[in-house]
Amino acid sequence: MSHPIAGRITFNLVAGIVVTIVTVISGVAWMAYRQNDQAAQQTRTMVMGGVDAMHTRVQGLANDYSWWEEAYEAYGRGDRDWIDANIGTGIVDTLIADFLAILSPQGELKYGWWTPEGAPSPQSVMTPELIARIQELIRTAPIENNAARSAYIETPAGTLLFAVSRIAPVSKLDTVKPEDLPVLVMGFYLSTQRLSELGRSFLINDLRLQPGDAESAKGFPEIRDIYGKVIGHFVWTPPTPGFAVLRNVVAPIAGGLLVFCLIAMWTVLRARRLALSQALSERQAVTAARTDSLTGLTNRYGFNELSDSDQFGDACANGEAAIIYLDVNGFKAVNDSIGHQGGDELVGLLAERLSMILPPDARFARVGGDEFAVALTGKTAQATVAGVASAMVHSLDQPFGVAGFQFQVTAAVGYAVADGKDVTPSELMRRADLAMYQAKNAAERDAVPYHSGLETGALHRKRLGIALRGAIEADEFSVVYQPIVRASDLAVVSVEALVRWDSKEFGRVSPAEFIPVAEETGAIHEIGKFVFQRACRDMVEWPGLKISINVSPAQLRDPSFANDLGAIARRHDVVPNRFKLELTEGLLVRNPTIAKRKLARLKSMGFGLSLDDFGTGFSSIGYLRQFPFDWLKIDKSFIAELGTNPTANALIQSMIALGDAMDIAVVAEGIETVEQLQLLRLLQCEFVQGFHLSKPLAAAEVTALLAGLGESRRLFPDLPPPKAELERQINLVQS
Ligand code: C2E
Ligand code: CA
Ligand code: CA
Repeated sequence: MSHPIAGRITFNLVAGIVVTIVTVISGVAWMAYRQNDQAAQQTRTMVMGGVDAMHTRVQGLANDYSWWEEAYEAYGRGDRDWIDANIGTGIVDTLIADFLAILSPQGELKYGWWTPEGAPSPQSVMTPELIARIQELIRTAPIENNAARSAYIETPAGTLLFAVSRIAPVSKLDTVKPEDLPVLVMGFYLSTQRLSELGRSFLINDLRLQPGDAESAKGFPEIRDIYGKVIGHFVWTPPTPGFAVLRNVVAPIAGGLLVFCLIAMWTVLRARRLALSQALSERQAVTAARTDSLTGLTNRYGFNELSDSDQFGDACANGEAAIIYLDVNGFKAVNDSIGHQGGDELVGLLAERLSMILPPDARFARVGGDEFAVALTGKTAQATVAGVASAMVHSLDQPFGVAGFQFQVTAAVGYAVADGKDVTPSELMRRADLAMYQAKNAAERDAVPYHSGLETGALHRKRLGIALRGAIEADEFSVVYQPIVRASDLAVVSVEALVRWDSKEFGRVSPAEFIPVAEETGAIHEIGKFVFQRACRDMVEWPGLKISINVSPAQLRDPSFANDLGAIARRHDVVPNRFKLELTEGLLVRNPTIAKRKLARLKSMGFGLSLDDFGTGFSSIGYLRQFPFDWLKIDKSFIAELGTNPTANALIQSMIALGDAMDIAVVAEGIETVEQLQLLRLLQCEFVQGFHLSKPLAAAEVTALLAGLGESRRLFPDLPPPKAELERQINLVQS
């Protein structure tokens, strides 16, 4: 497993180690070589100095024995004995010199001494050629201080270093000519012993003479004989103090480097491990961000990412993609009854069961608390999606066992296929969502495919739901009040609060349209409270007037509903008796036991209760008997048919009779014509409401109306008597 960061760290650190090691080693080596070099230079200088000293010594010797009055005179006298005793044997025997010869001014060998025994004699060494060369050499030496000259000559016994000097009378120099003076030749062999003694004096153990002109001796001081020919070199093993130092420091440096390498390697490994683990945890984090922790499925983020991918886009473009959305119904009830942990367990079981029926290449995601999505791609996607979606619906037929309970859940499943053309992934998702939404509202339980007919209704509701969320904060709601009038004298006895929504996006939206949406999304709770609060505020201006408040079943289901109303009323200093809560029968039918308890509680707090839209549902007299209603409101659909449909007349009449019998006040709503009003009066309907009497009014208009009506609050002066025809109709019904 490699990672760019880990690789870079490794490379950098290894490179660092290598550079450090190379730098240290080459630095130390350079220092050692430099030291060696300096030492070599130094020894060379010393050797040269030593050689010079040898020359000086041999010249000095020659000078000592030739710059000598007696010697000059003895030579002149031809006194061989004196010369042998004082110059020759004395010198050679005491090993001051190895070789001694005296040449006449004309260049003849006059005397000769030598040592050791086998060494060549001056007679054999002093060839005419050499003598000629010596004479040349001596000519270069000035006479004044009898300077000596020295040179080398190769002999069978080795290299001979010799000096030549004129034998001269020191006090009578002006009386002699240099060319008339005899010449003393004095020298010694550069023996191994001599050279090593010389070497040792400046710490060279093996100073020696290498004869000839070998390549290996290049760079060492050369020895040229008197003719200028290279006959050998002074050679020695150059000292290497640098290496000595190196030998001393190599161990500590190597140790240091080793420690350094170990530390560096450890650092490298650690850094690599760190980088890798970081990369790993990054990868894990990325995976986690795309995974739903509860089910292990892809989450919404991951699903969106998938649908945003080029691959999925291509599949869509090729008509090889489909999306299924599934929304679990009744999930909240599970949560409510066994808690969230149980709910989570159910979601897990659900995901497991659904996974099993999906094709292996389907992408399955949990995109919400109880919402799942499936993406199908490939050539078979179009053909298989309907079957898969339907199987998903029916996979829930078997109940789930959670915490010892059996739960039966259902699901709304909608799907859409990319049918080529311009279905982008996001469009495909929107369509599947829309189909699911339709499935939610459909009566029969089956998967719903997307079709263009869904676009209007469901989508609009969806958008309304979204717009509703911000509507309260945006102050888009207001409340109007529609008077309810006593039929007998047309006095205004109460008003019904009706909410109005002026949406920035949709303009004015009818409550008939948005209230059901608000009930679905839960916005109804906030809206209901808002209306109640607003009514509390406004009704202060209308003493004695009762206020009808519409309450949705969803609101009533809210456990804190009664307490909330009580608290709001108290805060506004309004007694609950002034309210009538208008309820539809939906809740009563669905959950009578709970409804009874809730209504009893509201009643005990002082709220009046009104059964709204009476006659439209399944309501039976039985229900009316069970629940403590003070009012019932005949639905406006009956009133609309009043006078035209004899059945409607009869129904209204019996509803009024029922109210009378049960001591429940009856209100007829939706009165639009004077005839309807007259008829209801004839039928002894107690209260009426409708556009004919008054449209819903703003709070200020209600205040103005009441002020205009005076004490009696009568809307109109009394009506003209009803036409005979109406009377006939009523009688017809009554008979
Ligand atoms: P609803 O409770 O049956 O309210 C009466 C509806 O009939 C009102 O419509 C009212 O404007 C309308 N109306 C009054 N007189 C006439 C008439 O002579 N002819 C006709 N054709 N209609 C008449 P609106 O205000 O559009 O309300 C519609 C429904 O929305 C209401 O029906 C009620 O169920 C619901 N609603 C209104 N306000 C609220 C509210 O604050 N909370 C709740 N939960 N529901 C509300
Ligand atoms: Ca109502
Ligand atoms: Ca109604």
